[in-house]
Amino acid sequence: MNIIRLILLLLLIWVIWSLFNRKNKKALKIQDKPVIKQGEMVSCQHCGLHVPTEEAIKIDDTNFCCKEHSKL
Ligand SMILES: [Zn+2]
Repeated sequence: MNIIRLILLLLLIWVIWSLFNRKNKKALKIQDKPVIKQGEMVSCQHCGLHVPTEEAIKIDDTNFCCKEHSKL
């Protein structure tokens, strides 16, 4: 009888563990979404150099690669 109890206990642990893992995977997928946005590139209006959106300097819907080019 002890072996059956042990198996049932292990089965219960496995079910809880797999449910916990599923929740973790969902949380990771939500965190992955902003990474895709970081890959977006914009071109400088002065020299045409492609820079990531977060690094570009945006002035009146016009993108520049650096502060120097935004002034020109
Ligand atoms: Zn530039």
